[in-house]
Amino acid sequence: MAGEDYKRLMDAMADPLVACDGDERILYLNPAAERLLGWTVRELEDQRLVHLVPARLRSFDGHSFVRYLLGRRRALGGRPVRVPLLRRGGAELEVEVTVGTLGEGPEERITLVLRRAPESPDYTDEPLERLGSATAPRATHSAPTAERAYQLVFENAPLGLFHFDTTPTLITCNDYFARLIGSSKRVLIGLNLLTLHDEHFKGCVRDVLDGRHAYYEGDYHAVSSDKVIPMRTHFAPCFNEAGEVEGGVAIVEDITEQRSAAAERDRLFHEAQDAIRVRDDFLTIASHELKTPLTPLSLRLASLERRLERNEPVDPALLRHARQHLVRLTALINDLLDASRIDSGRLALHLEPIGLDTIIERALSGMDIERGHHRIDYVHPPEAVRIRGDSYRLEQVIANLVENALKYSPGDSTVRVTLDVNDDFALLSVADEGIGIPRDQQEQLFERYFRARNVSVTSYGGLGLGLYISRDIVERHGGRIWVESEVGQGSTFYVALPLLASATPTPPAPEPPHSGPSQQVH
Ligand code: ADP
Repeated sequence: MAGEDYKRLMDAMADPLVACDGDERILYLNPAAERLLGWTVRELEDQRLVHLVPARLRSFDGHSFVRYLLGRRRALGGRPVRVPLLRRGGAELEVEVTVGTLGEGPEERITLVLRRAPESPDYTDEPLERLGSATAPRATHSAPTAERAYQLVFENAPLGLFHFDTTPTLITCNDYFARLIGSSKRVLIGLNLLTLHDEHFKGCVRDVLDGRHAYYEGDYHAVSSDKVIPMRTHFAPCFNEAGEVEGGVAIVEDITEQRSAAAERDRLFHEAQDAIRVRDDFLTIASHELKTPLTPLSLRLASLERRLERNEPVDPALLRHARQHLVRLTALINDLLDASRIDSGRLALHLEPIGLDTIIERALSGMDIERGHHRIDYVHPPEAVRIRGDSYRLEQVIANLVENALKYSPGDSTVRVTLDVNDDFALLSVADEGIGIPRDQQEQLFERYFRARNVSVTSYGGLGLGLYISRDIVERHGGRIWVESEVGQGSTFYVALPLLASATPTPPAPEPPHSGPSQQVH
């Protein structure tokens, strides 16, 4: 028996140590060696050291494995020897061994310091080759080729591979697997797989030890690296010649890319579904909008026809109303055409020096039909406000903003149109006292087909194209359009356009949101 002090000393060592007497009878192994080899002290105490040595390495030139190593200590110059040792269960584990001896005869104590073999290729394993040739010269000629082939496949396979014994300790793994897990082989080899946290993974290992194949797919949480790896693992049991399970192998596949491809497919699918829904909604609204003016138009024309047939006087209001519906239809069709021109980059602008004040007046004077009982206040500077723009398109923007203000506010309220000159910019605002726009919807207001949820198709007709077209026109004039609004309080739309004199000014940024109405810029 090793002395208690000797045992305590060994226990304190981080490296695995095995101590035996001069007859190579094992006296003690420290906890690090227990972990590495899978044996407990109890199981090995008093056993011969050859218990740990593969049969082919038990005799060298008439010497035992340990005596041979001791004899070569000088030649090795203190370097460890790389050899396979037998773990519990019979699997071989590559380790580095350094052997030392103290005392003589019955007092002799032999100590083996073990280490997991490093994975670095700069390791010199010359002593192992010499050991191999001392025992099995034939095997040394054929084995390297087989081993090399195995090594080539194992290390270069584009998959993670690992092998575990029945204890179940990870005996070996390739670099791909270590990289995948975000750890090093040194940490992984010797790891007991049942100490992992992933119950599904452990279940697979248990299945394999029961002789069954197993399949793992999921987000594996690596204990050693805190990494979460989406992976797929196929487990298979390994059987010895007697048909008993002697461990398992596993092929590990990183499915991060497949996962993101699947997520991208899902995203595209949902996007396509959304686009289809938007298109269907639009078709419903568009058909409704286009049809709405047709019924009264045909009724009015029929009534006109009857009166003319009977030689009755024709009320001009009848004709005016019929024309209103035609104007509405034409405007809808024009919006549809403009939106498709914008989408395909074909909405042409004809820029020239113009007076914005004149264009606003023209837009407002053409608004008699829509005005109803609304009051429209127009305030503008005394002097002309000159800008470079497309008068037809800017009139369209102004008309759209004023029409919206009229459409989305009560019939007896006031719409305030204000033109101001601000530094290098002309600033137009259209304010109403209407239904307002919910804050969370203001961001999408200038998108194609967008209509806020507080406007129902039946109460307020519209295709959700006017602001989309207006934004495009304003921005292509080097300007900005934005809104400030509060539900139930009304909305104010702003348009800033560069004045003619200014070279290439930057449109003013709207003031940051304050306690008043919220604003949305475009
Ligand atoms: P349309 O009025 O034909 O629906 P627009 O593009 O002109 O299309 O307007 C988009 C949406 O913006 C409208 O459906 C409405 O929800 C909202 N909106 C525009 N102007 C106003 C306004 N003055 N007051 C309240 N909501 C408005």
